[in-house]
Amino acid sequence: MVNYAAYCLGIPYVWGSIYLFDGQASVFAPTLAEDAPCYRCLYPEPPPPGMVPSCAEGGVLGVLCASIGSIQVNEAIKLLTGIGDPAIGKLVIYDALELEWRKLRVRKDPNCALCGENPTVTGLIDYDSFCGAISEEALDAAAGSTISVTTLEHMLKERDEGIRDFVLVDVREPNEAEINHIPGSVLIPKGEFLNGHALEQLPSDKQIVMHCKTGIRSAETLAIVKGAGYSDAVHVGGGVAAWVNQIDPSQPSY
Ligand SMILES: [Zn+2]
Repeated sequence: MVNYAAYCLGIPYVWGSIYLFDGQASVFAPTLAEDAPCYRCLYPEPPPPGMVPSCAEGGVLGVLCASIGSIQVNEAIKLLTGIGDPAIGKLVIYDALELEWRKLRVRKDPNCALCGENPTVTGLIDYDSFCGAISEEALDAAAGSTISVTTLEHMLKERDEGIRDFVLVDVREPNEAEINHIPGSVLIPKGEFLNGHALEQLPSDKQIVMHCKTGIRSAETLAIVKGAGYSDAVHVGGGVAAWVNQIDPSQPSY
């Protein structure tokens, strides 16, 4: 979206990105030079929804923000003052663990949807649906299979009374579960569902109820569990955040 806005305004986009222990930076300025690429020349498609790890799963080494942010400011100063050679058409890659900087050439894509010869993006698009905050599979799985925290509280009570049986699975990361949790849940992080190991740990004769922090990750794992044959599996809308907000405000939130 920023790339598109910069392109429409005819101004350079000083870009930076960080993930785990790596960082990347570049300057996209297709309106300044004819052969200069834009962000979409480099990354034409967003990654599939659900494959982007949350901050809790992926995370970033904090000091990377300063390393890459400093590169961006340096590039902005160069562009504003007209000194030096801005990183147009160059991709700088920083590996913090190896303390290694690399510089790659990025070429303009003649088929780029935005700055190419026959652009297909000519107006603002719906970036939520383009980038898919939640995947089609997860949306399908969650339709009609989402319960509220009030329903869950009732179900847990019935489980305690022996009237009902199910397994409540928390798909967050262990450090998140240390902050707050829904009593009676078992922790199996989302990654275990993606690699298939979680399915071996689930009983085949009980209903599976899944929750995460807000209901995005649990919808993604719900799709996997339903795909494995657990047709009556459900997930908790709003996740533990809603639980703390509506059922147990004594627990901390994050
Ligand atoms: Zn482009």
